[in-house]
Amino acid sequence: MMRETTVFGPIFSRRLGSSLGINLLPQEGKLCNFDCVYCECGWNKDGRGDSVLPSARDVQEALEKKLQDCALEGTPIDSITFSGDGEPTLNPDFPAIIDLTLALRDRYYPSARVSVLSNATRIGQEGVFEALRKVDNAILKIDAPTDAQAALVNRPARGYHVADVVEALKRFEGQFVLQTMFVRGPSWATEDWVEGWMDLVRELGPREVMVYTIDRETPMKELRKYSVEEMRALVQPLLEEGYQIQIKG
Ligand code: SF4
Repeated sequence: MMRETTVFGPIFSRRLGSSLGINLLPQEGKLCNFDCVYCECGWNKDGRGDSVLPSARDVQEALEKKLQDCALEGTPIDSITFSGDGEPTLNPDFPAIIDLTLALRDRYYPSARVSVLSNATRIGQEGVFEALRKVDNAILKIDAPTDAQAALVNRPARGYHVADVVEALKRFEGQFVLQTMFVRGPSWATEDWVEGWMDLVRELGPREVMVYTIDRETPMKELRKYSVEEMRALVQPLLEEGYQIQIKG
């Protein structure tokens, strides 16, 4: 599912209310340094439509116009979420875009929450780290606790090491939401590594954990989802330890 435009919505959901989306990736392609087997945007190889990334200026214009239009119409906006066709922090203007988005939010919809969905691969970069510290919800992904397991589910570009991401995440001092996909593949499943994953959660102490499963068609066809009850049973030790866990079926 490609979002195409740089600013899209608002879309209404029970969880986020009226939500505006921002896609910092190409309008007709996908750009990511992961190639997750469950990605709703499809495989990277099928998403090479164009490679033009919106600049800070493009986002400023498109977002301000959208916010002005919504304010004039009286359309509420509860959240502004960066969730495009790929990894938003790959856009070199990401830090500047976060600053301008927060300024526009303060001006037009001061109570709207700004969220970023990211695979956390670039949080070691100072500008990306600082930008993610400024937003209301940095929602950062770790799907598996070892490189070998991440290779099965995330198929990352060369150079990805879960241990590096964990070290970099410690700098957030728990001020982030950890997001993890629970899914069954052809010869592996999240339950195979849930113990190791729970140890990571304990090490990082995120203020919230969000576990979810596949919902739509996925690029790898052999995937199967977990039910909410199954996911709850798997994370039960963390629930008992008092972690805040959102389970999305
Ligand atoms: S990190 Fe997100 S955008 Fe990138 S491949 Fe995985 S699901 Fe798709």
